[in-house]
Amino acid sequence: MVFDSITSKITGILDTIRGADKLTAENIEEAVQEMRKVLLDADVNFQVANSLVKAVKEKAVGERRIDNVNPSQQFVKILYDELVDIMGGDEAPIATSATDQPTVLLLAGLQGAGKTTAAAKLALYLQTPQTRLDASGDAEGGEGEGGKGTMTKPRKVLLVAADVYRPAAIDQLQILGERVGCEVFTMGQDVDPVDIVKQGVAYAKEQGYDTVIVDTAGRQVVDDALMAELKRIKEAVPPDEVLLVVDAMTGQEAALLTQTFNEQIGISGAILTKLDGDTRGGSALSVRGVSGKPIKFVGVGEGMDKLEPFYPKRMASRIIG
Ligand code: GDP
Repeated sequence: MVFDSITSKITGILDTIRGADKLTAENIEEAVQEMRKVLLDADVNFQVANSLVKAVKEKAVGERRIDNVNPSQQFVKILYDELVDIMGGDEAPIATSATDQPTVLLLAGLQGAGKTTAAAKLALYLQTPQTRLDASGDAEGGEGEGGKGTMTKPRKVLLVAADVYRPAAIDQLQILGERVGCEVFTMGQDVDPVDIVKQGVAYAKEQGYDTVIVDTAGRQVVDDALMAELKRIKEAVPPDEVLLVVDAMTGQEAALLTQTFNEQIGISGAILTKLDGDTRGGSALSVRGVSGKPIKFVGVGEGMDKLEPFYPKRMASRIIG
């Protein structure tokens, strides 16, 4: 898994502190400098790594020794809190429309990031009742008797095919839509995407769908045409969410892309795909710190059920090991 190497290196750093009987300026300095190297090796954004290290150091140095708590436990707690913090704290749920219009979720991203796949995965996720998890990623009330988590209400989802430039995109969405049991609204390739989205939303309302997921066009690179089109769609059909689909394998590029899209069109969050791959994981730690926007979901495989809500606390625990 993506964090295995970070986790094993952090365990090594903690071992050096574990050997000490208290946290001192020296052993903290040594640990945080090692930590900085591990983070940069994992392709965490430079500024994010620096601010994490600075915060951990300040808190660890200021920490009073607590009886019965060993220095490494104290250090782990500080590190955990800071990791959670840079990833955005609590989970960021998907919005619901506050009006009688269907909820509109626009998916944007570069070609190959996994946007079309994410659209279908998200449809399946929202159509399926989910056990609501608390912020730590545990089922609310625990798993004991009588303590089952509460279930979310399944949504009625319509997928809208608005990528009119890539010839196979509409077919691909239709195939995936069928696989997840979700209707796909399409008007072919010769229609303005703004009209497709407007009519798709009107159709959804007429047919009793409560949520519309729009697969917008992807390009090889960020260009003016891509941004202009997204802006036009956004203005014509105010969406409840604009989610940027980014590929974790691109490391901190994913975070920078999120920043660019947010500055240019305004987004509400990111879906980080391919986190199952052999990536260095830096993007999961960098997106929020660089762009100010949360990761809402992560893709962890090609299968339609391989989409998970992003829980900063769970991710921080995974990183610390
Ligand atoms: P788009 O051009 O952004 O619409 O990208 P696609 O949805 O066509 O995905 C590109 C490729 O990435 C496909 O082969 C997908 O199966 C694959 N893919 C998408 N998400 C994931 C993921 O979370 N994990 C893995 N391993 N592969 C993924």
